[in-house]
Amino acid sequence: MSNNLPAGQIPMDQHRAETVERDCLCSGCWGRVNADFAPGRLWFVRCINCGENTPGYVSKAYVERREQENKFEAREIKRAFSDWT
Ligand SMILES: [Zn+2]
Repeated sequence: MSNNLPAGQIPMDQHRAETVERDCLCSGCWGRVNADFAPGRLWFVRCINCGENTPGYVSKAYVERREQENKFEAREIKRAFSDWT
């Protein structure tokens, strides 16, 4: 599927929506995503922060890995700065 709509405006079936809600976070801000009904029984999965403009989804596992890397990088940067003092 390729179009220019943000993911938050692309309908999906209920099963997929529930899976995305359970396993994924917003790719824009890593916020929680909620599955919502829309008129016509289409489902949308939207970030609690980005709403209709939710750009996409990333898996929770990916975000956890990235957060660990960020913590590691923060430590490394601190260490680099401490060499200057
Ligand atoms: Zn978001």
